[in-house]
Amino acid sequence: MSRETLVDHARALDCIHCGLCLTTCPTYQLTGSETSSPRGRIHLMRAVAEGRAEPDATFEDEMNFCLVCRHCESVCPAGVEFGAMMEFSRGALLERRPPGPLARIARWVGFRGILVRRAGLRLAAMGLRAVQLLRLDALTSPLLGLRGQIFRNLPRVPDAHERRPLPPVTPAKGAERGTVLVLDGCVMPELFGRVNRAMTDVLAATGREVRSVPKHVCCGALHAHNGELDQAEDLARKTIAQFDEVHGSAPVVIDSAGCGAHMKEYGRLLANDPEWRDRASSFAARVVDLTEELAAPEATARLQEELCDGHGIKGPVTWDDPCHLCHGQGVREQPRQLLDLVPGLERVEMSGADSCCGSAGIYTVLRPQDSLDVLDPKLESLDQTGAKTLVTANPGCHQQWQIGVGKTGKEVEVLHLAEVLERALRPR
Ligand code: SF4
Ligand code: SF4
Repeated sequence: MSRETLVDHARALDCIHCGLCLTTCPTYQLTGSETSSPRGRIHLMRAVAEGRAEPDATFEDEMNFCLVCRHCESVCPAGVEFGAMMEFSRGALLERRPPGPLARIARWVGFRGILVRRAGLRLAAMGLRAVQLLRLDALTSPLLGLRGQIFRNLPRVPDAHERRPLPPVTPAKGAERGTVLVLDGCVMPELFGRVNRAMTDVLAATGREVRSVPKHVCCGALHAHNGELDQAEDLARKTIAQFDEVHGSAPVVIDSAGCGAHMKEYGRLLANDPEWRDRASSFAARVVDLTEELAAPEATARLQEELCDGHGIKGPVTWDDPCHLCHGQGVREQPRQLLDLVPGLERVEMSGADSCCGSAGIYTVLRPQDSLDVLDPKLESLDQTGAKTLVTANPGCHQQWQIGVGKTGKEVEVLHLAEVLERALRPR
């Protein structure tokens, strides 16, 4: 493979070296090193592509140290598409320097065995639940060090009742406003099935008929972020076909920011596939985050009629922006507007709400110490708000905050925005 194909050189040329992105970057904040900043990484990519540097261990480590949080994209005046560049470089690195046999097996099991198969996900969830029930997770800290500690602080796998899939059709409540499709997702049904059901209930309360896509498992976001680009493309094609089979034109509503950001970019992902690129772009245009769907005037008006006080949500409440919602999709105001609709709910702003919590997909597992170091300043910011409830909208962030809150013993409940709204729905 040539140096050029290791790096998305054309995109790297967009950078004008202004440095505005430096202070927003969590890895630059940790190290103070230019090499660990967006500008530094782009400089490295360009040097490799132009033959001025080798794609050595430092290069590889900097590509993997990045959380792909895309905070740098939000402040970049030149419109550098950093997330796309990182996915490209990680994919090329994986082909150029395949990992050792153990890591290869782990990646195969994770990406091809578990994530893409409902049976594999169920089996993994059942295994983790058995470990948690037998308290074997207490043994993981001495055996696995920091990774073991994180394993011990993983959210409890709920019982089978909560892990059931969404019904194929949930009828609208009251006057119907058309159909939407929803994504059940890969890990969501196993760890956060209650969130998917809350999303469905809230959408139905605003007059939407809600249809799930029972055949579908994974949108491929984790594959793309971790360089498994061929499989990410296959999963994108499969996702589009399976959703279109249920409804070919309804909006596709997503309650997981990472999946939503990825699915909105299916057009870019399949741009080199003449058979699929137009279909992928039209599909991507139908994808909306749950907060975008609910903040539309008609839905908000219906929600206002349905929400009531006496929901028992502990205040003050603070919103933490998932990176793939605010930086990946530009959605910032809608979640705050929706929280402000809930009667009796006191919302407080958290400083640095739009900075990364360190979750970043499987980064928590791959780089546990860096992941926790990125979370630390956020835990301090949470303390300063005095919040008793932290609200997010992405399973990775949800899990990371639960790990942080569990580790520090804070009495803060972590909820998805859909859960907050569902709790506040007027009883029928
Ligand atoms: S994506 Fe995030 S971690 Fe990576 S360079 Fe940009 S700001 Fe830094
Ligand atoms: S803000 Fe954009 S143009 Fe400026 S250094 Fe960062 S990536 Fe380059």
